[in-house]
Amino acid sequence: MFQTLVKALEASIGYTINLQERIHWFYILTSILLAVYVYWRTQSRVPNVQHSKGNTIKNFLAFLFKKEHYWSKTAFTDYAFLLFNGFFKVLFLSWVLLWVTRQQNNLNEWFLEHVGYKTIELDIPVLLVIYPLFILIIGDFSYYLLHLLYHKIPFLWAFHKIHHSSTALNPITQFRIHPIELVLNNMRYALVLILLGGTFNYLAGGGVFYQKTFMGVNLVLFAFNTWGANLRHSHIKLVYFNWLESWLISPYQHQIHHSAQKHLHDKNLGSKLAIWDKMFGTLVKSKEVEHLIVGLGEEDRHYNTFFKSLIRPFSRFFLRSK
Ligand SMILES: [Zn+2]
Ligand SMILES: [Zn+2]
Repeated sequence: MFQTLVKALEASIGYTINLQERIHWFYILTSILLAVYVYWRTQSRVPNVQHSKGNTIKNFLAFLFKKEHYWSKTAFTDYAFLLFNGFFKVLFLSWVLLWVTRQQNNLNEWFLEHVGYKTIELDIPVLLVIYPLFILIIGDFSYYLLHLLYHKIPFLWAFHKIHHSSTALNPITQFRIHPIELVLNNMRYALVLILLGGTFNYLAGGGVFYQKTFMGVNLVLFAFNTWGANLRHSHIKLVYFNWLESWLISPYQHQIHHSAQKHLHDKNLGSKLAIWDKMFGTLVKSKEVEHLIVGLGEEDRHYNTFFKSLIRPFSRFFLRSK
């Protein structure tokens, strides 16, 4: 038990040196650089401000690390979920990965049996580019659909609310996810990996090509994380060009998704791509929302600790509380 706890701690802290994870130090660094840009742009737009050089760094740090975002009840709830996530990973991830690999091989075999052996095999370098693109498109679409269900079905919303209950976003808020949602999210991703991994395995002539990646991470994820993914859960208002926000969800568009106003938090449900939101009428662009208050409004007080958040969805159903 103690060992599992230590491993969970290692896994959580290890996120900062794992390029697959959004909070790897390099992605945090690029996010800070983007925050510098946002700060500079905001300051240059405010007229008659005394720009004293000595205070610039101090002011920037005060702008970046607002206390309520990093040292508050809501932030501590995020950190507790980060640790819990690490625990979950240590206990289940290796099993899930094993199961996924087995199912990918089964699908490959199924293709061989029902479609037959191929005479032409696709080039592995080509597949290395196409595979992440398919993961991006199919993965993102399945994310959109599941996310839509979280928002539309009351039973699922009760669990998804935990992610929305943060009242001051910070990069760790991405881990503020109820274990039931965590299981569903992992099942979704496992199905995508089985479907695409099995198919591409077959197309590559049985070579497990997708294990060859760019520094252990696929290029799409690397680009996404480098371009300020950490700012999605923050108060830094990084927006894209208006036209680009119809294609890619900007950090501020995800912050809009965290709005306490219902008509806004049912919007921008995509993860990386905005095309699904555009297609299904759930897209809101940054220029449409000037000021933002995040959270669940009045209900926030029911979710302001880790244990309350963990239990609340169940009590809601079994004890008929709101
Ligand atoms: Zn949501
Ligand atoms: Zn979020």
